[in-house]
Amino acid sequence: MPELPEVEVTRRSVIGVVGARVLALRMGKPLRWPLGHDPSALAGLRVGNVARRGKYLWFALLQPASGEPRGGLLWHLGMSGSLGFSPEVGDPGPHDHADLVTDQGTLRMTDPRRFGAVVWSPSLNADPAAKLLSRLGREPFDLDFTPADFHAGLQTRRLPIKQALLAGDLVVGAGNIYASDALFEAGIDPRTPCHRIGPQRAARLLAAVRLVLGEAIAAGGSTLRDFRDAHGSTGQYQDAAARVYGREGQACPRCQAPIRRIVQGQRATYFCAHCQHR
Ligand SMILES: [Zn+2]
Repeated sequence: MPELPEVEVTRRSVIGVVGARVLALRMGKPLRWPLGHDPSALAGLRVGNVARRGKYLWFALLQPASGEPRGGLLWHLGMSGSLGFSPEVGDPGPHDHADLVTDQGTLRMTDPRRFGAVVWSPSLNADPAAKLLSRLGREPFDLDFTPADFHAGLQTRRLPIKQALLAGDLVVGAGNIYASDALFEAGIDPRTPCHRIGPQRAARLLAAVRLVLGEAIAAGGSTLRDFRDAHGSTGQYQDAAARVYGREGQACPRCQAPIRRIVQGQRATYFCAHCQHR
């Protein structure tokens, strides 16, 4: 499923829609949540900035003359969604379920499993957007999110650190690949209870989450299933940069001991028992 890096890569690849005038929003088969608005009411508005929060993309809409905010569209790629922006698109295929047609091109969501969604909201701070975003943890690249904040959050949790990272309510973005690799980078055993992690190790882990996610964005994300950005490029992280994820039995890049695979909360975790400590 698309994780934060893939969603950020998507955001950057559809940025050409900023400033475009909306001609129509055409919705296909039902998605995870309804649009919650009359699509024809969006015609004539301009697309403002495209922002990311967690794995959501927010396309702000503006009154063209005054530039006043007129709500926006919150998109989620679900399990299998991808967004493309192109000046020329063909007729929608069987898995194309939303087209935002503009005078600069069409933003098209392709989503075979239809767990994705496009939801209209009056603003990011009003429902339904506010409700959907309310349980998200901090943004990893938010510079106001300090190692002390991260450590304080860990102190209130007793579950294993790997599962806390995956839960996304402390910090967003560390999905399965990136959580495994960040814990390796920080030298922390994935089974360590959160509250046992001291301030220095918490600081190292936050830095590792930032490093790994930054590398993944630079590599165009990871392509475990069928992720493509808006230009059809696949991500390279898991082949080029992954440290321990998916490498059971292979040599640890640091000490050459074999990488182990365990299952935590029904998800595979990879780690080096020699380099990572509780
Ligand atoms: Zn090792």
